[in-house]
Amino acid sequence: MCHKIKSYYIHTFGCQSNKADSERIAGDYQARGFVEADDWRECDELVINTCAVRQRAEDRARGFLHNVGLYFEEQQKPRPKIILTGCMIHHGDRKLQEMMPAVDEVLPIGEVGFNQTAIRKDKKHAFIPISTGCNSFCTFCIVPYSRGREKSRSMNEILDEVALLIDQGYEEITLLGMNVNSWGLEKLGIGFRKLMMSHQEFTREDLPDNQSQYLRPKKTPPFVKLLQAISKFDQIKVIRFMTSNPWDFHDELIAEIGLNKKIDRYVHLPVQSGSNSVLYRMNRGYKREDYLRVVQKLRAADPKIVIGTDIIVGFPGETEAEFEETVSLAKEVDWQIAFVAIYSPRPGTASDRIYEDDVPHHEKRRRWQILEDLINQKHLSHRPVVV
Ligand code: SF4
Repeated sequence: MCHKIKSYYIHTFGCQSNKADSERIAGDYQARGFVEADDWRECDELVINTCAVRQRAEDRARGFLHNVGLYFEEQQKPRPKIILTGCMIHHGDRKLQEMMPAVDEVLPIGEVGFNQTAIRKDKKHAFIPISTGCNSFCTFCIVPYSRGREKSRSMNEILDEVALLIDQGYEEITLLGMNVNSWGLEKLGIGFRKLMMSHQEFTREDLPDNQSQYLRPKKTPPFVKLLQAISKFDQIKVIRFMTSNPWDFHDELIAEIGLNKKIDRYVHLPVQSGSNSVLYRMNRGYKREDYLRVVQKLRAADPKIVIGTDIIVGFPGETEAEFEETVSLAKEVDWQIAFVAIYSPRPGTASDRIYEDDVPHHEKRRRWQILEDLINQKHLSHRPVVV
């Protein structure tokens, strides 16, 4: 009797965390005897790993699914089993079923597991997830609801994976988490998330500060210890990490980056806005001055450090004067690269529930263009390598 070997294909949207999750989903398939198909048209099971950071990202996943459906209809072939995972699962099974009836199964991200072997295409550089979820409550962000509470992976598990990668010849790694500097410091509470999941009304004042969701390190922060432990492996030549947040970028971490030259000189430090009133509405947990202090300390630790950022333009209520504060911060910091996003309300986020999306689209585009020219066009010829 001849058994046909089943095949899978994973289509990934979004950020590095999604790509790292897809590598582990591939590992799970291969452990179950599946082989990777070269094309989604040829597979038995198709995983769509989705991003929900902006409406456009969700639209792209839905568009892809639509094309898949059309193709199999036209070819009059049975379509593969379709499995949906990633950040769009925050909509919940019922809504997803309405939005995308062709989906056969929903795979919660947490079920992939840290310790599932990753199947990596890149043979030189490897992503290593060190935490999942996020305990912060930035008002614009869907991650705390799609990925759940933050959970740090243990030091031993991470070091075992580094050792395995060294055996395979890897020399460059990127440690991944939504907030890597808080690794090992997350609190267990459920706090605001419970309120968000309910239909109760709330205001900006009800939101907990992001800092309140983490323990304060008494001595060396755990993330610094992790960097030091990984640096002891001679074979590892470059260590990158993302994402770091300004509110817990501890002095010890800055000192470690300054001294430890295995750590890449590019630091990604999302600011989102240069205006304190917008930062308050975003619940970012720091002020413009705090951000500048971190930048100054980083440059004092090593003038070769290059800094990049994320910015949102057109956040609810953003006035011209508030936007100009972001422009002036861009001039002051001189970021080498910026991922500038136009705000769009994400259903399920706090900002969608408490603010009106009141900046006209043409104005958002104008602000986007100003920052794009000021930061990215200016540094076009010497942009840092961002993995
Ligand atoms: S730190 Fe803020 S922006 Fe980043 S994942 Fe958490 S909630 Fe989202």
